[in-house]
Amino acid sequence: MIASTNPATGSELARFTPHSEREVEAVLAGAVAAQADWRRRTATERVPLLQRLSDVLRQNKDAYAQLITAEMGKPIGQAEAEIEKCAVTCEYYAEHAPAQLADRPVDSDATESAVVYEPLGVVLTVMPWNYPFWQFVRCAAPALAAGNAVLLKHANNVPQCALAVERAVQEAGAPEGLCRTLLVEVDRVGGIVADPRIAAVSLTGSTGVGAIVASQAAAALKKQVLELGGSDPFVVLADADVARAAATAVASRFINAGQSCVNAKRFIVQDTVAEEFAAAFTRGAQALVVGDPTDRATSIGPMARADLRETLHDQVERSIAAGAELRLGGKPIDSLGWFYPPTVLDHVTPGMAAFDEETFGPVAAITRVATADDAIALANRTEYGLAATLWTGDLSRARTLVRQVDAGAVFVNGMVASDARLPFGGIKKSGYGRELGPEGIREFVNVKTVWIG
Ligand code: NAP
Repeated sequence: MIASTNPATGSELARFTPHSEREVEAVLAGAVAAQADWRRRTATERVPLLQRLSDVLRQNKDAYAQLITAEMGKPIGQAEAEIEKCAVTCEYYAEHAPAQLADRPVDSDATESAVVYEPLGVVLTVMPWNYPFWQFVRCAAPALAAGNAVLLKHANNVPQCALAVERAVQEAGAPEGLCRTLLVEVDRVGGIVADPRIAAVSLTGSTGVGAIVASQAAAALKKQVLELGGSDPFVVLADADVARAAATAVASRFINAGQSCVNAKRFIVQDTVAEEFAAAFTRGAQALVVGDPTDRATSIGPMARADLRETLHDQVERSIAAGAELRLGGKPIDSLGWFYPPTVLDHVTPGMAAFDEETFGPVAAITRVATADDAIALANRTEYGLAATLWTGDLSRARTLVRQVDAGAVFVNGMVASDARLPFGGIKKSGYGRELGPEGIREFVNVKTVWIG
């Protein structure tokens, strides 16, 4: 059984029977048939689907946002923003996909030669619960525009969102079978990945699960994109605007109750401004309102699942036992639902859980360093490489330092956030491949050389 449970109350909202083998078979066969026709259309003929999807998302924004909030606990305003971001991204690809996929003539020894971009086939997407519409849409919109069919195996704590996003694409007028949700448990994913009708796999999720699914896809020699965990550094140098950095740091750490891959997680601050930063950051964190995610005054809802809260609290306890100083929060809120308060750990050093591991919840780790070089060295001292933030008043120094940070993105004096126009993805154990921007649409295409003598 696949259960949908409200994390703010712990009460069950709905139950779904996983799809049978026969149902999965029908979905696979339907996707292949739909894609065979879809791929024959030009990108210009395909993109109106995305424009209509953007309209459907906006028309149903309230209902979709309520579903997100009910199933994974995101405060309602943030859930509405998630749907709006999906709509904007669909519009982006509706406008730009035809040019991004246009044939590219190349001068060579041939009379005529060119690069053309063709779809791969049926793409299986395995998605997490933390942005239940966004994670899927940012992958599916370009994949569909490029002529692929897309199947969704969503996180099983958000089955209603999984079915709602499938319906949204259907309401937008997708050919039958082109985009379907598979309600299956994880032990069936490997078989689906191996099925010859699946051409490629995109997984957004934890590094451990990424390694499992990547090895399944690799065994079948299938193209993969992996968007995995992160432990993003947020570096504040001595010449930074500390007040602005601290205010941005609060938003960057605590949005979505800290359950975002690109939440800043490790705050690495130069000694001379460390106390000023830590005090302002802690004040900002303390002012956040934890509570009912349907209430517009709430800034932090519950964590999405009980086990995630246990894991987070264990990381906090291990960090404190190893010498971290607790400045705020630090234990689960004793109430209905899986709430955890904004928590600030200071004097965190490498070797502590809050530094070495991904903390997927409202816990911030502050690390103090002597020099800018030390800050960059510690920023890079992680197995992850998703994104990073750098705060400094010296933009010419920033331009040098951004190249020294090992990450898929570095933001200077601003908050890391994905943007349809810019590629998004990681290095190291944060995965490989890119989503969004022109790079994202080229992941699930056959870059075909055409040579005519
Ligand atoms: P997760 O546990 O790795 O789950 C991700 C997806 O994989 C879910 O659909 C899950 O299904 C499925 N899955 C789990 N075990 C599997 C297995 N053995 N074989 C096949 N599929 C399996 O991650 P999560 O807790 O949902 O999400 C949080 C993680 O995602 C964090 O590490 C976060 O940093 C990362 N993330 C990364 C990005 C990015 O863009 N880089 C974005 C968002 C989140 P079930 O729900 O049924 O277990």
